[in-house]
Amino acid sequence: MKFCLRYGNREAHYIEGVKHLFALHDRTKGMRHLKISATKNYKRGKYLYAILKLLAGDHVEGMNLLDVHKWRSNTYVVDKLWNQVKRSLHEVPIIKNSFYCTNMILIMPPRACELNKLENRCSKCFYYKEMARFMELVHRG
Ligand SMILES: [Zn+2]
Repeated sequence: MKFCLRYGNREAHYIEGVKHLFALHDRTKGMRHLKISATKNYKRGKYLYAILKLLAGDHVEGMNLLDVHKWRSNTYVVDKLWNQVKRSLHEVPIIKNSFYCTNMILIMPPRACELNKLENRCSKCFYYKEMARFMELVHRG
């Protein structure tokens, strides 16, 4: 693993990020590694980093990251990506942060968006529902 990191392997940074964030509970280090994998255009890293940024209240940065590849209008690609991320988080207990819910409420979409139907996303509720999907893992943990 050390070898991979030294050579800037994008996936290695993603894995280190997940490890520090959710297993070692070192948010600073974890986010640093995820950011590197995102910057190097590792899609899983970019997606997870964006979601965690949204949940941390950095809404603009998170939204911009999700918009780079026009994911808002291509939910098929996002769903595939999410399944990969979910698989990589399998059996990693994700503890809820107290600020997650507050930061979701701040960008709550209109009621017409049917908040319980996560698979139906329009441009108004896309970001919110991506966060909500991640939160399902959190509650399970
Ligand atoms: Zn909507």
